[in-house]
Amino acid sequence: MERSSRKNSYGKTISKSLLIFKINNNMSEVREVKVKQVDEKCPVCQNGWMRPTGIVLTSNPPQFPHKCQKCGYEQIYSVRYPYVITE
Ligand SMILES: [Zn+2]
Repeated sequence: MERSSRKNSYGKTISKSLLIFKINNNMSEVREVKVKQVDEKCPVCQNGWMRPTGIVLTSNPPQFPHKCQKCGYEQIYSVRYPYVITE
């Protein structure tokens, strides 16, 4: 008695999630996209890469302080490097 009631509730859960899957993926397609990474070289030593310090200035739009890995030069950008673009 206990066993059959467990089976029933399990079956209900599965059919519900299958229905949701069907609705959400009706016309969905999976395709590959090429991605590229945009990175910012240090303008001073031209040897290191500018990396976010972890601090975000909550201006509008927000700004991202960066620091060169090699020479320590600091600059503020409106984007966070490196970032990824798709084609
Ligand atoms: Zn540098």
